Amino acid sequence: MAEHVRVRFAPSPTGKVHIGNIRAAIFNWLYARSVGGEFLLRVEDTDLERSTPEAIQTLMDCMRWLGLNWDGEVFYQTSQREHHLEVAQMLLDKGYAYKENKGGQGECVIFRMPTEGTIEFDDLVKGHMKKQAKDTQDFVIVRSDGSPVFHLANVLDDITQGVTHIIRGDDHVENTFKHIMLFKAIGAPVPKYAHLPMIVNNAGKPYSKRDGSAFVGEFKELGYLPDTLFNFLALLGWAPGDDREIMTREEMVAAFGFDKCKASPARFDMKKLLWMNGEYIARQPVAEYQKAFDERLVAAGLPVEPLGGCKDELLPQLQGRTKTYADLPGPFACFFTEDYLFEEKAVTSRLKVDGMPELLETLAQKFADAPAFEVSPLEAMIKAYGEERGDKGMGPLVHPIRVAVSGGMTGIGLFEMLVALGRDRTVARLRTVAQRLREGSL
Ligand code: GLU
Repeated sequence: MAEHVRVRFAPSPTGKVHIGNIRAAIFNWLYARSVGGEFLLRVEDTDLERSTPEAIQTLMDCMRWLGLNWDGEVFYQTSQREHHLEVAQMLLDKGYAYKENKGGQGECVIFRMPTEGTIEFDDLVKGHMKKQAKDTQDFVIVRSDGSPVFHLANVLDDITQGVTHIIRGDDHVENTFKHIMLFKAIGAPVPKYAHLPMIVNNAGKPYSKRDGSAFVGEFKELGYLPDTLFNFLALLGWAPGDDREIMTREEMVAAFGFDKCKASPARFDMKKLLWMNGEYIARQPVAEYQKAFDERLVAAGLPVEPLGGCKDELLPQLQGRTKTYADLPGPFACFFTEDYLFEEKAVTSRLKVDGMPELLETLAQKFADAPAFEVSPLEAMIKAYGEERGDKGMGPLVHPIRVAVSGGMTGIGLFEMLVALGRDRTVARLRTVAQRLREGSL
């Protein structure tokens, strides 16, 4: 009969949920869902000062936001304290542990590690792992104040919850050698282990908050979608084995397996995350995009209707160019207000150029006279004018036009932008900018 898989996410809530921890939750969730097993949530709340009700709430909010639905009731470690202490007594009675008064602080209970032979296990990600018993040390399982230590509580709760596979970060590998001996002393089957590779920065060093955002809540605030973060973190240590990167949860569940998990460090590539978020935003229903965009416009004190109207035509174009909601309205403000911001760098490099006011006036007149104010004819007109001037490519004309009408260098295609703004607005903006350049007020 196939084994019934039970895995758990066992965070120690601290108020902020680190991406490394939530990556472990995602791998547990994917594995459980891929084999029809259970995904349990155990709150390791033994550190009462940090595991406040707010910290636990934050943790659960993060999990819900990411769609990490768990099975059954939440299991609280502190509810097991008596059981932990009973087993510690059993280990003392059987000689697996002893008492010692360390540094005169009172007696603590210490687990006896073997002194000969090896401790070994087959890690589902890292392969065969082995340690000489003589290189291990006895360790405390109950402190002198009578509180059970992480190692004891963690192992006992895994036994109580019937956990079959322990999937966690590889910072726990050293603990695993201890835990295996505890399982054996207690007479419980040793679960299977999968230690996930460390998450590193571009320099190959452990990823930390100095490298950028490190907590789930920060990514949420920065405008990342939960599906993006889920997908991105799932790929930190796993790959489906083909070229796919953007995948639905169902696709990830179907493709997930430890055989495709990597033991080598997983690089946290912020650029890739941003790209991925843009892909997810582009795939959202336009109504969802509109809702998020409208909220940002209101927050920026801008109207939600574009100056040139045609919101239904404009929005899908902007949606395809949005990397995170936090960037909005950003370069798109020019569609909603005459009071758009000019980027200093763009102004200096593209507008503060000899002869620019005259050029902008000429262009304004060409736009005013253009027979059809539509993308292709406008583009053809500007191209022809560039050739007439002897320009190399269209850059010398399109860049100044873009900066003049939008304030910056990014956004949607220039001619699409002009059409969305409309003829009158385009002409007026070019003339205003020409004037401000002459006055030196830009
Ligand atoms: N509370 C531990 C942690 O967050 C649990 C580790 C484990 O999954 O066993 O690191």
